[in-house]
Amino acid sequence: MTSRPPATCLALLDQLSRYIDHELTPRQRRKIDAHCRDCTRCQRMIASLEHTVALYRRAGSATMPARVRARARERVAQLLRRRERTSR
Ligand SMILES: [Zn+2]
Repeated sequence: MTSRPPATCLALLDQLSRYIDHELTPRQRRKIDAHCRDCTRCQRMIASLEHTVALYRRAGSATMPARVRARARERVAQLLRRRERTSR
């Protein structure tokens, strides 16, 4: 099974939290959308981040606290690193 370079995902990861918060330009969003069409790894990441954000929105806070967002990103980065190690 050939897997695409995780570096692509890592680069996008940096923008995912802003993607969730709708802070990206349309062009940046399209780039992530296009990538996710092929990458189930990032699809899952976005789904899990969106789920976290939805929980906070329902709880009444408009934006995810920076601390929570940092933790979510850290978890995603760990996932990526683990995938990278096992794919070698
Ligand atoms: Zn990806």
